[in-house]
Amino acid sequence: MSSILRYLDEVKICPHCKQQLSCCEAPPIHVGDGLGWGSEVLFICLNDNCSVFLDGWEKIETQYGHHASYRYMELPNSKESNYMMVANADAFKACVIDKDVLKAQNKRYQEQKKNIKLLETCVEDKNIVPVVKVVLDESAAKDIRRRAIGYICPINDLSCIDALRNHTFRDPAIEHDVNKAIKVLLDANFKKECPACFEIVKAQAKKCMHCNESF
Ligand SMILES: [Zn+2]
Ligand SMILES: [Zn+2]
Repeated sequence: MSSILRYLDEVKICPHCKQQLSCCEAPPIHVGDGLGWGSEVLFICLNDNCSVFLDGWEKIETQYGHHASYRYMELPNSKESNYMMVANADAFKACVIDKDVLKAQNKRYQEQKKNIKLLETCVEDKNIVPVVKVVLDESAAKDIRRRAIGYICPINDLSCIDALRNHTFRDPAIEHDVNKAIKVLLDANFKKECPACFEIVKAQAKKCMHCNESF
């Protein structure tokens, strides 16, 4: 994905209609010759009023007897002109890359990488923040989340419990491990959660100091 980002700010103009080319995700295989383009993205003129597209229908009909037309195309970092056959006006329009979505995805990915790196020193730094972020990150790999769960007790910071309790885990195995870690963390600190208001109270308390519930 980061390699696609390199191309996003490249501005290419169609030499035929002077409109900006759209950055599209390349199809895995070029239908015509069975070969890929060797690029993750293609810059394509998707202007329906471009002369290449308008005139292509007749050219292909005459030459090949097919109902199809052409779109002008350039590869990233290349000025070479290519003409791709398309069966209809909608071809490639669904493949246009949304730069903002991709940039936001990349930002989340970089953030995830940073937090995973911080796990290496979280215990000696007593830093629970990256641990919570990785445990709650539904897009992170399961084994990495499990590793993060393993740091909850050694760091011994009760402040993480609220965030962990307020999250809806999609993976029941992860949720189970988190619940187990919270239990060990509370026991080690002689604490328990009030069954009525879920505030943390002393393990030996008979009454909750937050909601007055008796147990
Ligand atoms: Zn054009
Ligand atoms: Zn309570």
